[in-house]
Amino acid sequence: MRTKLVAGNWKMHGNLAANERLLTSIRDAAGAFSSICAVCVPFPYLAQAQAVLAGSKVAWGAQNVSEHAQGAYTGEVSAAMLVEFSCRYVLVGHSERRSLYGESDTLVADKFVAALQAGLTPVLCVGETLAEREADITGAVVTRQLEAVIAKSGVAALGRAVLAYEPVWAIGTGKTATPQQAQDVHALIRTRVAAGDVAIAQGVQILYGGSVKAGNAQELFAMPDIDGGLIGGASLVAEDFLAICAAA
Ligand code: PEP
Repeated sequence: MRTKLVAGNWKMHGNLAANERLLTSIRDAAGAFSSICAVCVPFPYLAQAQAVLAGSKVAWGAQNVSEHAQGAYTGEVSAAMLVEFSCRYVLVGHSERRSLYGESDTLVADKFVAALQAGLTPVLCVGETLAEREADITGAVVTRQLEAVIAKSGVAALGRAVLAYEPVWAIGTGKTATPQQAQDVHALIRTRVAAGDVAIAQGVQILYGGSVKAGNAQELFAMPDIDGGLIGGASLVAEDFLAICAAA
């Protein structure tokens, strides 16, 4: 049985005062959950997350990482730097990174490997656009994104990672995939991993992301291949995020 994971993606939101309230509320409630709770915060707030959450049941992480170990890469943040702030997770390949910052499948795979090599748990995000879904190529797109990573890291590396299926058309739009739509893609992802290694496929957590709210989390998380959620907007409101964690 896979433990459920609910990870918040704060994106570029927050300030010190609001973060303090949010992190403290999550920390104080998390002891009651059987699921794992995590928050992926903007880089400048990692020290704050570490200070508030250290020793609690809540893990923390970042939303991006450089593919390079160090060097003249202005504005970038390495995996080793994230480790210094005791990050457990880092998102790689979020659709906003892919679409707004031109991150290719190859670059995402390099970031995935850099995160793993530093001892972080990468959360690899995959998902199709609305046009790709309407063209009936969801499976091909998601498989291509996943295979780019497997080709570089090997399938066994997925045993130290988390996968997240996030249909682009559902992110921040209020349009959630139906539990069955999400389950179908999760099952396809697990089957693809199983083709390389059955045990890794059975163990890897596959999160769903895309307008998950307190009101729809339970039915999504009840599906056999949905192992929790990656939560954007609703992770910024303690009550909403905690209700989703409770649903897991
Ligand atoms: C996300 O940013 O990964 C996400 C799923 O956002 P939202 O929950 O707001 O759709």
